[in-house]
Amino acid sequence: MFKYFRPAAQVIRARAAIILIALCAPVFAADYAGPLFDAHLHYNEEAWAGNGSPHPPADVLARMQRNGVRAIVANSRPNDGTQSLASLPQARQAGVTVVPFIRLYRNRADYDNWFRDESIFAMVQAEFASGVTGDQAGPYRGIGEFHLYDSANANQPVARKLMQFAEKNQLAVLAHVDDAAIDLLMAHAPDARLIWAHTGIGGAPVARVDALLAKYPQLMGELSYRPGLTCGGGKLCPEWRALILKYPTRFMIGSDTWVNQRWQMYDALMKSYRVWLGDLPPEVARNIGWDNGAARFGLKQ
Ligand SMILES: [Zn+2]
Repeated sequence: MFKYFRPAAQVIRARAAIILIALCAPVFAADYAGPLFDAHLHYNEEAWAGNGSPHPPADVLARMQRNGVRAIVANSRPNDGTQSLASLPQARQAGVTVVPFIRLYRNRADYDNWFRDESIFAMVQAEFASGVTGDQAGPYRGIGEFHLYDSANANQPVARKLMQFAEKNQLAVLAHVDDAAIDLLMAHAPDARLIWAHTGIGGAPVARVDALLAKYPQLMGELSYRPGLTCGGGKLCPEWRALILKYPTRFMIGSDTWVNQRWQMYDALMKSYRVWLGDLPPEVARNIGWDNGAARFGLKQ
């Protein structure tokens, strides 16, 4: 009798094994497939001027288009790069809305001195008064990106004036700063629309990011280069997933094309965002990928 039971037992075990494999197999969420708003984009001189111009407008627009990037916060050193993207009909034809920001830097030397240089404040005011011209003509919508490597410089006179200028003119401010500087900058202009570039590139603890978002309802976080954001398989780390689910309307993605190498990585960068966005509930993925930026700058959904 026993020999007849044996095959049956094997079949049962095999079926159990198949069911177990099915239950244990990782479930791969599909990548986010909706539109992207690139909230941190530079179109600096070295991309389009001199040395064979490796990334002329047609090249960068093609990169945006094939990655489903439908709008960009554009800023550039000097501002001519932003002007050229906004002025070309090709941007509109590629389905890319340019949200222009005024860069504070005319050259590399300005990075470390802008906060005390009155000529930069004058340049920003003049640039704001003239706006962008051409196909997507209109006013500038923000200031930045600017950097503070020592947060105490947030209290320098030009930093204070620029924050107050931005607040008065309802301009967003893209700031690459640490968490201490967020408090200092917001003290100058409590209603300023501050976008925290990289949401703390130095890796401010998630609890501290949470506290700042709670304290300043206008504050938004941009997530390029954010340490600790993703874990295995390019998915969000658990504490970041929880933070984004807690504040689904406060985060945006960005490419930060600060050097030409980032343009060469543009496809991979956007793909990596789509991977972790796909691990969020669909409506939250769309918030982070598109809606939050579109809402902040009044773009069509
Ligand atoms: Zn940047």
